[in-house]
Amino acid sequence: MDELLPKTESTSSEKATLCDVTVIGGGLAGKAASLQLAKAGLRVICIEPEESLRQPVGESLDWSAPDLLSALGLPMNDLISAQMATWKRHVTVRLRDGTSAHYIPSAWLAGSPFRVELRTLHVDRLRLDRELLKMTIGSGVKLVRDKVVGVERKRRNIASVRTAGGARFSSPWFIDASGFTTCLLAREFNLPAIHSGPVKVAMWNYFPVSESIEGTTLYLDPMPAEYLEWIWEIPVSTDMVSVGYITTGAAIKAKRERGSPVEDIFRQQLMKFPRFDPLLREGVLSPTNVTSFRSRVQIGVAGPNWLIAGEAAAMVDPITANGVTAALRHAAEASSLILKYRSQGQLPLGARVSYSSRILQMAKFFNGGIEKIVYEPPVRNRIGVQRSGTVYTSPAWSMNVVYARMKPRGIVATFLLGLFLGVFRASAWILYQFCKRLAPAVGPA
Ligand SMILES: Cc1cc2nc3c(=O)[nH]c(=O)nc-3n(C[C@H](O)[C@H](O)[C@H](O)COP(=O)(O)OP(=O)(O)OC[C@H]3O[C@@H](n4cnc5c(N)ncnc54)[C@H](O)[C@@H]3O)c2cc1C
Repeated sequence: MDELLPKTESTSSEKATLCDVTVIGGGLAGKAASLQLAKAGLRVICIEPEESLRQPVGESLDWSAPDLLSALGLPMNDLISAQMATWKRHVTVRLRDGTSAHYIPSAWLAGSPFRVELRTLHVDRLRLDRELLKMTIGSGVKLVRDKVVGVERKRRNIASVRTAGGARFSSPWFIDASGFTTCLLAREFNLPAIHSGPVKVAMWNYFPVSESIEGTTLYLDPMPAEYLEWIWEIPVSTDMVSVGYITTGAAIKAKRERGSPVEDIFRQQLMKFPRFDPLLREGVLSPTNVTSFRSRVQIGVAGPNWLIAGEAAAMVDPITANGVTAALRHAAEASSLILKYRSQGQLPLGARVSYSSRILQMAKFFNGGIEKIVYEPPVRNRIGVQRSGTVYTSPAWSMNVVYARMKPRGIVATFLLGLFLGVFRASAWILYQFCKRLAPAVGPA
């Protein structure tokens, strides 16, 4: 891995370092927020403990992500020509029995009045994150290599943060983009969370390919009585695919207790699909990456002078391909709220409530929908896994487009968005309950 983060001077000092905004975490959300605030003329400090870029994940983008990247100065065509991305025009689901289904945004969406861009991207995250880091530093953001370990506050107002290196950073505004494992401010303020589904484990690796492929492919072998597990294949460049396997933490624990190493579990899963035979023969490019997570969303992710963004606010299930869109959207909205209310010194209650509500509603919609319609057996047993895919993707893809067009910001627009999402969530719930009642104990997948 490249040594990408510049070394910073020792930060040990009793006196606080002052700036306009302190951003905790230099992942995708942290870099995006820092860049936008620095471009608007604010003095930004971004605190990130990792010395080099870890292998980031989040490579298959939703249709709304390209506009958000473009707003940061990374338009789609530039990403393609710099070989940081490949086109994604559709998603394919392949079952173990050889059948497949394609999910493609309808062509009429490209026409008037919708004018939806029917292409999105797969990204090489190491290269994309490296470029974003360069832009962030170039915009004047001071990157500090340290870890935030404490928060000094008066009630719900944050005064400063302390780091493992013994430094203090004080600013009128703070953004927490510390990711789903740290969730710094959610822990500090004991924020409640809504969880969806079980703990899951993801293992993934990269394979060289001689022929470039187009679109994201999901490989499924749905067991009628069991929770769904799946494999992704994402062409992150013309000569490399990312391949990942996601299942429940309980399933991995059982396999590990039987003595299977991660590499074997990963390999055995891939061997179920002939597509991976040649890739496995060629061999992987590095040791297999592993992470565990649980889909969830925090409630109340904004305070008087702080906002939480990215996975620190909401962990959206990877199968929805919505994490990057969510992280960039949170970063854009959090930065613009700080710019808007900067002179007042704090966020009005309405702005806090509507920011938190948008994050809550969207995450509940994606996580609740995918769990009920695709992961859990009742609906997919009753209508079949391919139709479950259609039932999930139609509202999910449209919702992101609606959000991008509607740009809900104020209380009224946020309330309307919540109503709209509530109708979809209620429909998914009714469908789930209906199928659960009707479904035989074990039916066709
Ligand atoms: C297995 C998997 C597959 C995924 N696939 C997709 C996909 O195909 N498409 C998609 O859109 N999304 C996907 N996602 C989601 C996507 O990866 C994330 O939404 C996105 O990268 C989150 O960025 P973030 O900045 O919020 O968090 P992170 O990238 O985790 O960044 C958080 C940063 O905070 C730093 N930090 C942590 N603690 C501290 C501290 N105490 N002080 C200072 N800094 C700290 C960390 O070092 C890290 O750099 C996937 C996620 C997973 C887990």
